[in-house]
Amino acid sequence: HIGDRFGFNRDIYALGNCFPILAVYDDEGWNLDPYVFYGESLYSHVADYDVYIKIEKDFIIAATGVLVNTTYSNGYKIEHWVGKNIREFAFVASKFFEVYEILYNNITIYSYYLPEAGSMGIRAAEIAMRALKVYGEHYGPYVYPEYRVVAVDFWAGGMEYPSLIMIATSLYDPNKREIFELVIAHETGHQWWYGMVGNDENDEPWLDEGLTEYTTIMYFEWTYGRATGRRIFNKYYKNSFYRFMDRYKSYDKPIASTMYDFRGASFAYFYIVYKKGACVLDMLRYILGDDIFFNIFRTLYNRFRFKIATIRDFINIAEEVSGRDLDWFFDFWLYDKGLVKYRIKNATISSTFSGYRLNIYIVQEEPSYNIEMIVPILLKTSSGNRYVWVWVNKTSGIISIDVDEKVLSIQIDPEDYILGRDDTKVVTVVEEVSSIPTDFLIQALSISIFCVIDAILITYLKRKGIVK
Ligand SMILES: [Zn+2]
Repeated sequence: HIGDRFGFNRDIYALGNCFPILAVYDDEGWNLDPYVFYGESLYSHVADYDVYIKIEKDFIIAATGVLVNTTYSNGYKIEHWVGKNIREFAFVASKFFEVYEILYNNITIYSYYLPEAGSMGIRAAEIAMRALKVYGEHYGPYVYPEYRVVAVDFWAGGMEYPSLIMIATSLYDPNKREIFELVIAHETGHQWWYGMVGNDENDEPWLDEGLTEYTTIMYFEWTYGRATGRRIFNKYYKNSFYRFMDRYKSYDKPIASTMYDFRGASFAYFYIVYKKGACVLDMLRYILGDDIFFNIFRTLYNRFRFKIATIRDFINIAEEVSGRDLDWFFDFWLYDKGLVKYRIKNATISSTFSGYRLNIYIVQEEPSYNIEMIVPILLKTSSGNRYVWVWVNKTSGIISIDVDEKVLSIQIDPEDYILGRDDTKVVTVVEEVSSIPTDFLIQALSISIFCVIDAILITYLKRKGIVK
């Protein structure tokens, strides 16, 4: 009698993970990791499930898969459910459910909710429909014929199963519309990352949670536009993670940690794997651009649908699709903890024959050891602002950039594309006063060196009698 994904509370019986599944045998041997309450440690292959549920006839059941038929006898009914290519079987039962259904693109979407939820029960189906639509368009199709959003009386916000998600009854509240939408968008995102593309949730929880969190942000961006997507990202992800780092830095761990690593610090699991996990993907998106970034997700889906992917597979696809080595990025952001911090010490500009040369002295203040990172610098000129991305490490010192107009001032990452608390103060660019441009000096010097060499050569050749 607990409010969890397996348990009952008030009038709703949740039977998540009730059906025994075969453990996965992989290069570690049999994966027999225990159940954890604060997240998922589940890991399974897809399989076809054929399940008969005998229950008092006035119960309404929502299960993974499709209901193929129902028979009745002596006050009971037997429901026959079939799920194909699903990772586990779960169901929820209540005598009090109301059911609302809508059809989208040959997928029937059902919402099961308690009467007190009212119009929020209908809204649940509509949000799920929008999420299935945008994810299907950008990643690849949702392959199941039905989808169920089911109200469950539990402590968690939501829980994902193949073609069925559980949503906390406490969120069916008009005052919680945004978080309600966010949780449904998240659990629906899991249909792609965990459901169709599987992973070892115990060893690599970021692969499904991180990708699903970024997918949730994209639900808002694809549905309501970029400004809404950014607002959701800043509010629920980036700022939330910064607050965690301000208060609980000692709990910080690499994103690519296992569920086991978060024992005794389950709140840190949520901030690091989910929130920082989404922030890291946001950085990757800026570095690679939208086309390449979303192509990584599509390729992962196409290659690993109904299979099991690893973080290494994700990195390999990212490198393959972008044609770039990205170990420098993932080594720090997934396999190490902490944030970066940069500061511009000073900046000068001098004229060249073709334009100007900007010299920026950037200091890597965090981490304390050397890492390679690409960092955006905002250049302010009389004609406007623009970004240049420069490679920085602990020993890079002065970085020179050729520009075609005079730069008045610069700022490092003022819009915080790269996760960290940089010193973003505006640095005035000092003009290096020189009566002769340095380019001219170099050229003049090389011409005079050539003249001297010529003179020596001619003298030598004359002396040898080769020339007269
Ligand atoms: Zn999740």
